Amino acid sequence: MTDRPPDYDVVIAGGGLVGGSLAVALAASDLRVALVEAEPHYSTRQPSFDERSIALSHGSCNILRQLGLWDALQADAFPITRIHVSEQRRFGNALLDAAEQGIAELGFVIKGRRLGAALWQRIEQLTSLEVCCPARVTATAPAADGRDVVVATPDGEQTLRTRLLVVADGARSPLREALGIAAAIDDYGQTAIVANVQVDRRYAGHTAFERFTPQGPLAVLPGADGLYTVVLACAREQAAQLCALADNEFLQQVQNRLGFRLGRLRKLGKRSAYPLALVQTAALTTERAVMIGNAAHGLHPVAGQGFNLGLRDAASLAELLISGRRQTAAAFDAGAESLLQRYTDWRLDDQRKVVAFTDGLIRLFGRRGRLLSHARGLGLAMFDTLPAGKRLLARQTMGLGGRMTRLARGLDP
Ligand SMILES: Cc1cc2nc3c(=O)[nH]c(=O)nc-3n(C[C@H](O)[C@H](O)[C@H](O)COP(=O)(O)OP(=O)(O)OC[C@H]3O[C@@H](n4cnc5c(N)ncnc54)[C@H](O)[C@@H]3O)c2cc1C
Repeated sequence: MTDRPPDYDVVIAGGGLVGGSLAVALAASDLRVALVEAEPHYSTRQPSFDERSIALSHGSCNILRQLGLWDALQADAFPITRIHVSEQRRFGNALLDAAEQGIAELGFVIKGRRLGAALWQRIEQLTSLEVCCPARVTATAPAADGRDVVVATPDGEQTLRTRLLVVADGARSPLREALGIAAAIDDYGQTAIVANVQVDRRYAGHTAFERFTPQGPLAVLPGADGLYTVVLACAREQAAQLCALADNEFLQQVQNRLGFRLGRLRKLGKRSAYPLALVQTAALTTERAVMIGNAAHGLHPVAGQGFNLGLRDAASLAELLISGRRQTAAAFDAGAESLLQRYTDWRLDDQRKVVAFTDGLIRLFGRRGRLLSHARGLGLAMFDTLPAGKRLLARQTMGLGGRMTRLARGLDP
């Protein structure tokens, strides 16, 4: 280990949806930034950019607009104007309506693959950003005024020295472990099966559905030309059977859970399966390192919050780094303990609320019992009549709760 000064202010390990967004946000500064990503965005092994549909909150759309990505996304982004929440075979439901909240839409739906392509198209245009891809961070250790980051590339190994390492390598995050940050991984014992379905065009619209069933939750997201995305969560043992069913049999299973709100479901696309777990870390930072996105919190996808939460991590960190640099110029230290503490102070509350909300939904609707399900029905029905409660939930779901970033408010970071 030598005493040379750090070559970079920030090295980002993982250029998935969240790490990639941070790299784009930091391009608005003169910070020296490197992005290390294991899989090219067009690779079928890329874990972040696939056929899953991502429901973007209103706040996330603002951030993506400010990052200059919206023009590339707009044509493929489908607006959600209402979210309908219900429980199978129970009375009572709740509706969040954009018009009631005085806005045009609650958010948009976009394919993960499309979002990844737009992100990486932008990343490849950024001349100030050092991109190492395909390359994998394999180790890290404290160094003089910074941290050494060992990167394995097809041409061999190199060591980058940085003031701050941002860990954005996903929920399983081997780097989190290498940094000694403990994580509680709570396996839901469920798998999400994602597939596109064609709905009867007479029923197609802009409403997303959250439906709780005794077999597991179901989310149905709208898309262009009546092509909806189904996210069906079920016990892991059942998932293998459902994936093995013929298309018409699988469609029947979805129809049984959803009912006929969207008419008769037809034509099924390819099915993909994702094992589900709740991941919570004991800390968000350690010496000259910070965890963002799924590396800091892995969620059940039922409420469509994982990327939205991770994008708020990226936007907050970018704001702290850029404003810190502006204020202290050459003396700025991107890995300073005080900056990392301010990051934790800012993000912890939002992360805890979203984890509690998402996990709470799964556990509440996962419990059996007639009395309990009557109480849930009553709760949903009552909630539906409470404008103040709905407004609070809508703002949280839209990513507009708590302390908002400048990017989410439509300002430069
Ligand atoms: C079925 C499903 C539906 C979902 N729907 C929604 C939704 O509607 N709305 C929403 O907000 N969220 C949704 N999510 C969650 C969302 O997809 C994730 O929160 C998001 O992808 C997390 O992004 P990330 O960049 O933090 O992690 P990842 O997507 O896991 O990306 C990690 C990146 O790090 C790279 N990497 C890993 N190890 C290394 C290494 N050692 N060195 C370099 N690079 C490395 C990987 O190649 C990858 O590119 C859904 C998730 C699922 C499974």
